[in-house]
Amino acid sequence: MTQTKILLDEKDLPQQWYNVLADLPSPPAPPLNPQTRQPLRPEDLSPIFPMALIEQEVSTKRWIDIPEEVREIYRLWRPTPLFRAHRLEAALGTPARIYYKYEGTSPAGSHKPNTAIPQAYYNKQAGVKRLATETGAGQWGTALALACSFYGLECMVYMVKVSYSQKPYRRSLMEVWGATVVPSPSDRTNAGRQMLARDPHSPGSLGMAISEAVEDAATRPDSNYALGSVLNHVLLHQTVIGLEAKKQLALAGEYPDYVIGCCGGGSNFAGLSFPFVYDKIHGKKTRIIAVEPAACPTLTRGRYTYDFGDTAALTPLVKMYTLGHDFVPPGIHAGGLRYHGDSPLVSQLYHEGLIEAKAPHQRSVFEAAVLFARTEGILPAPETAHAIRATVDAAIECREAGSSKAILFCLSGHGHFDLTAYDDYLSGKLEDFDYTAEDLAKGLATVPKIETG
Ligand SMILES: *Cc1c(COP(=O)(O)O)cnc(C)c1O
Repeated sequence: MTQTKILLDEKDLPQQWYNVLADLPSPPAPPLNPQTRQPLRPEDLSPIFPMALIEQEVSTKRWIDIPEEVREIYRLWRPTPLFRAHRLEAALGTPARIYYKYEGTSPAGSHKPNTAIPQAYYNKQAGVKRLATETGAGQWGTALALACSFYGLECMVYMVKVSYSQKPYRRSLMEVWGATVVPSPSDRTNAGRQMLARDPHSPGSLGMAISEAVEDAATRPDSNYALGSVLNHVLLHQTVIGLEAKKQLALAGEYPDYVIGCCGGGSNFAGLSFPFVYDKIHGKKTRIIAVEPAACPTLTRGRYTYDFGDTAALTPLVKMYTLGHDFVPPGIHAGGLRYHGDSPLVSQLYHEGLIEAKAPHQRSVFEAAVLFARTEGILPAPETAHAIRATVDAAIECREAGSSKAILFCLSGHGHFDLTAYDDYLSGKLEDFDYTAEDLAKGLATVPKIETG
């Protein structure tokens, strides 16, 4: 029997993040200023981001040093364990070897503190006193509240209204760490007031909450904005996941045939996979799979084009797979996967065929999650369960083909705050959503028309 947990020493914590921008087969499409529609200049971002993060956003250096002050805090839970899923393999009767990198060991219960900590750190260095942000399912708000409490910053969280009522304990945790949390759309911002005027019962969306948080940060001199996914610097910070996993697999004498992550904005997927994308660009044959919900099928059914990151069209235009910035997905339980767009880097790699995407329905996703909990013990977040569904499918394919492949997936977080979703699944209340091409065309009609050469 081989090891169940493959652990690294604290001294093996990565010293640098990996920047995939250094290795892209073709240059990325530049973000555009939302007003002029000309390529964005770094100073356009300075009202809401500190210069250190803006530099990381555009850097093409392959390796970027992790400040020692950040590594000190990472050491509270990193390096995270890599598990071999022996019991899941046995239950599936598969010859595949399944490994998972468990990011639920952070204090916030997900991978998100990997970027919340450095973002709070660089803002603190720049003299910022307060960070404003949005949160969908609550994980990002939780992670930023934690980071702000470590660095003595105020934290203002606009929480998508459906989640605010579905997950009261998420709010409690943010408040324990000192954050202020309001349901979005709120009456505190122009964007929020306009949305409430349009629909007083709006369940909110990530796009709306981003508009509120960006407006808040842009209109207060003491405040900056922090985003939990999508942007290049966020994905960069998450690469500690994949860098550690690579070392851990090497200790087990393995290299993965599959690398799988769930994909909302793309940060945990990128964090795990980009160090393997580097190898794929240099000739490895690994299948790298992003898994999104059928109810928010951005990569699999969206369009690759310039769109706004938020509903009120305040953010820069970025080239990405999008369902349209007005798209409001149904209140599916994987709240962290409800974003209308996707990271430009993940989008580009998908467009160039270096990665694949899948979009399972939520009932089959929860079925895989429950199988995982009953074999491996850990209750996965509903978001993570999408990666588990794709992993189980790959393992079953291996069984049918009689081939023993190594599968690596990211267990991006635990589901201890998501038990309402499990209740609904177990009592048969969860529904699968299917869009017609017409439904999707409505959202896509709001995408601005930008000529690109
Ligand atoms: C936020 C979240 C996600 C989705 O976000 P990405 O940026 O795509 O990683 C996935 N899993 C968990 C546990 C999350 O908290």
